Amino acid sequence: MSIPQTFIQELLSRVDVVEVVGRYVPLRKAGANFMGLCPFHGEKSPSFSVSPSKQFFHCFGCGKSGNAIGFLMEHAGMGFVDAVDDLARQVGLSVPDDHVAPADKERAAAARQHQATLSETLEKAGQDYRKQLRQSPRAVDYLKGRGVSGEIAQRYGLGYAPEGWRHLASVFAQYDDPLLSDSGLVIVGEEDGKRYDRFRDRVMFPIRNVKGECIGFGGRVLGDDKPKYLNSPETPVFHKGSELYGLYEARTAIREAGFALVTEGYMDVVALAQLGFENAVATLGTACTAEHITKLLRFTDSVVFSFDGDAAGRRAARKALDAAIPHAADTRSVKFLFLPSEHDPDSFVRAHGASAFSRHIADAMPLSRFLVEAAGEQCDLGTPEGRAHMASNARLLWEPLPDGALKRQLLGELATLAQLDPLDLQEVWEQAALRGRPPAAPAPRKAADARRPARAEPGRGFAPSSTSTSARRRRAAPAGRVDHAARLLLSHMEFLDALSHEDNALLSGQEPPHGPLFAWIEAQFHEQGALPWAVLRESLRGHGCEALAERVMTGAHAQTEGDTHELRLELRGLLNRMLAEQLRVQETEALTAANTDPAALQRYRALQARRVALERLAPQVS
Ligand SMILES: [Zn+2]
Repeated sequence: MSIPQTFIQELLSRVDVVEVVGRYVPLRKAGANFMGLCPFHGEKSPSFSVSPSKQFFHCFGCGKSGNAIGFLMEHAGMGFVDAVDDLARQVGLSVPDDHVAPADKERAAAARQHQATLSETLEKAGQDYRKQLRQSPRAVDYLKGRGVSGEIAQRYGLGYAPEGWRHLASVFAQYDDPLLSDSGLVIVGEEDGKRYDRFRDRVMFPIRNVKGECIGFGGRVLGDDKPKYLNSPETPVFHKGSELYGLYEARTAIREAGFALVTEGYMDVVALAQLGFENAVATLGTACTAEHITKLLRFTDSVVFSFDGDAAGRRAARKALDAAIPHAADTRSVKFLFLPSEHDPDSFVRAHGASAFSRHIADAMPLSRFLVEAAGEQCDLGTPEGRAHMASNARLLWEPLPDGALKRQLLGELATLAQLDPLDLQEVWEQAALRGRPPAAPAPRKAADARRPARAEPGRGFAPSSTSTSARRRRAAPAGRVDHAARLLLSHMEFLDALSHEDNALLSGQEPPHGPLFAWIEAQFHEQGALPWAVLRESLRGHGCEALAERVMTGAHAQTEGDTHELRLELRGLLNRMLAEQLRVQETEALTAANTDPAALQRYRALQARRVALERLAPQVS
């Protein structure tokens, strides 16, 4: 379902982020803002700030920030549509669905109803399984034998599905109710249409979504029968490619510990919780997917994958690496823990103790090292052929990394391993990428050129010739200054009313992504007037300038609170300095032109006079 931008804007201008956050986090007024204990990381003194003027929350401890919609998504684990829905109901708006055909609307409503009923059905079965556990000494003994206490069994809602083919017939009034088969509790024989319980004589692990609703089960045999583990099938409420076992139960512990520990099975999760590691979750018999990673990263910036040390564990780790690489931003930490081959996490902690396991976690292999190892796998780095092979493997691992310091460092490291200059390695990769494209495609070298640091070519010098306009344009204002101008305008869009045409041209003429962002802000201002940052934030979703705006509004210097008059002066000062710089460049140009064009000297004098006047207004020009 797509929700119109205009509605999101209206919604955000009506809700109050202080009230929304205040439902979950006790807040205290502190100056212009409200402060509280950050719900995203464990802390004893408040560094979590909510700004009513910006309609924005920000934690100075962990850096999490966002608007009311973002808060509900991050903290309450809601999806975007759910969060919008929730807020809309609070302020008495209804999410527009005019663009949806009535038939589709009905279908969507029916599907939602069906999902809710499936969850209820599963919950009812889960309650019975819990009751059955209390009545089965055998199952209780099994869990005790695995070291699971009654308290942990209760927290994870563990149960027992008794022996017998049709136990659930005693729980549900109608055993042939399609809800039982749709929810995966009952299997309908393909040939004879006979119905029977999927889970029999198994310890039952209810699988909950982030809202705490039961969406399926995992069942483990008590003895050595096969299969050892059995999961619910894919249903309208259960998708194993995106669900993580234990995430609902582990949410708080993940925030307190500062990281999530991803294991291979639900017994690991329960056993680790018992041993004091309550921040563990598990994939459900599948490889780790990009969806799993995205979901986890809503709760923490730090993920440690734990794998058994055998070949299967290594393969699973490699899949997790592939899924994690596109998310490995500089502010995140992804690590890989390989246990000795005879151990799973549970047996390891029992054999070596909790502190040895903690040390192992602290020493886990960073994504960067695993990536380099994976690139060099089965390559003999002692030979040029082996190094070339490694370089070829590395391209596919390196390219999906998000741009940032990690990516650049890894380029250097991989180049050193390949015994190539980083620029040469990139060139080799570009050619390989081009070979992979249809021959008609024009060579897209621009992106790569932009990445290259400008190098003075020997013999040619570095002075721009009089015709080199591109070299001139590259003389952009220092990044910090332009960032700050963007920050001031994003948080006080009304300042645009005092800017001249020249100011606007200066701003939108900046190098991308700054220039396009300023042009965008100006266009928004003309169309809709001054908008608060929270609304701009939403409008920017998916826009090419989103990352820049997000960075300047959430970085270390993101605070622009203060006297509005002073902030206006600050912006004016910035613009004057930028204009002065631009004038200086134009002066040099005019002087060069004066050799052949007598009018140029006149122009030079005018430019210089203007710049000197500006610099007098802003004496701190560097
Ligand atoms: Zn925090």
